[in-house]
Amino acid sequence: MTHLPAAILNDDALIRVLDALEARGARAWLVGGVVRNALLGEPVSDIDIATDAPPTEVSLLAEAAGLRAVPTGIDHGTVTLVADGRGFEVTTFRRDVETDGRHAVVAFSTDLAEDAARRDFTINALYADRAGRVLDPVGGLPDLAARRLRFVGEPEDRIREDYLRILRFFRFFAQYGREAQPRALAACAALRDGLARIAPERVGAEMRKLLAAPAPGAAIALMAQTGVLDLILPGARPDALQNLIAAENAAEAQPSWRRRLAALVPGDPTEALRLSRHESRHLARLREAARARWSLDEAGYRLTAPEALDHALLHRGIGLPVDWRARLDRAQASPLPLKASDLPGLSGPALGRALRAAESAWIASAFTLPAPALIDAALNADLNPKDTP
Ligand code: ATP
Ligand code: MG
Repeated sequence: MTHLPAAILNDDALIRVLDALEARGARAWLVGGVVRNALLGEPVSDIDIATDAPPTEVSLLAEAAGLRAVPTGIDHGTVTLVADGRGFEVTTFRRDVETDGRHAVVAFSTDLAEDAARRDFTINALYADRAGRVLDPVGGLPDLAARRLRFVGEPEDRIREDYLRILRFFRFFAQYGREAQPRALAACAALRDGLARIAPERVGAEMRKLLAAPAPGAAIALMAQTGVLDLILPGARPDALQNLIAAENAAEAQPSWRRRLAALVPGDPTEALRLSRHESRHLARLREAARARWSLDEAGYRLTAPEALDHALLHRGIGLPVDWRARLDRAQASPLPLKASDLPGLSGPALGRALRAAESAWIASAFTLPAPALIDAALNADLNPKDTP
């Protein structure tokens, strides 16, 4: 029998939640990501619990044990129990009554096997009891050992129930997979047009997680091969992503989904992925820097530190010197040592042009030009070019 590492269960808050749920004969299991990741030795973000107690009973059991119960998703059977300030999502066993390609009407169940059958992938349908004993109703353990991503049941049926599963397939493959179920790939290719039903924010959420995985290249290649990539991000360039990942590895840089997205998509993915203003702006700045082919010094001077780091890694083709990080730091710490008051007699557009000329000289000198030389550069600039108003 497979067991979870003991450390996962040596958790006072978790024990309080399980004690509460099992106080009157109901049963509760850890399920999904926590079991999968604990067995893989990967970090566990949050602990989801499945139970045979109906949601109203879950709330009563929690109150009886002095735990706060928040009905976070009561329609689909989820109550969040709060213990020691941490939330545990407790969801009653379910089976699907009706599906429409995204949302399901569910019925509550007392049957763990039924609950497992509606989960997406076999490695996500593992359960563990409070002693750490793992239950594997759909054969997920051998798949986990082989890092094989396989649908529970027939891939085509499961995708027609919920097209988001196409993206989840590639996302979990990027995070944990080495081997992809061939029937799953065929089903993703055949049914990819159903992705049109998925809201851009859900697409964005999955793509963020996918691109944040340490090595998403293989998943992106499979998305390209199945025609899924071009549907959600037209014109995407898997090769450019591979080049970036090689640069990240060589530089031992932390992965960043935003930087990887910038490599993958030449255009603006704001709409397709419903990016935030901040994310969208970051990418726009990177496109601007790429278009203008900013040098390391110029990028370090003009961009924020995270933007400059991304630009350097994305365009290391221009040649990253060994001390590139120090160069970026220096550029960041080198504002133009000149103010408008250093250029008396200039105002308006002429002053702006003079300051920009000084700035160019400052960057070109690698931030070494003394103030008098900068003033010279400013005053020698063509302050009244004929081609601009
Ligand atoms: P993560 O670490 O990314 O949170 P996770 O496995 O916890 O991974 P969630 O998206 O939080 O993933 O979902 C929790 C569990 O619920 C999954 O492991 C899976 O069993 C089930 N699940 C979630 N979404 C779906 C879906 N669209 N179809 C079927 N099962 C799903
Ligand atoms: Mg989760």
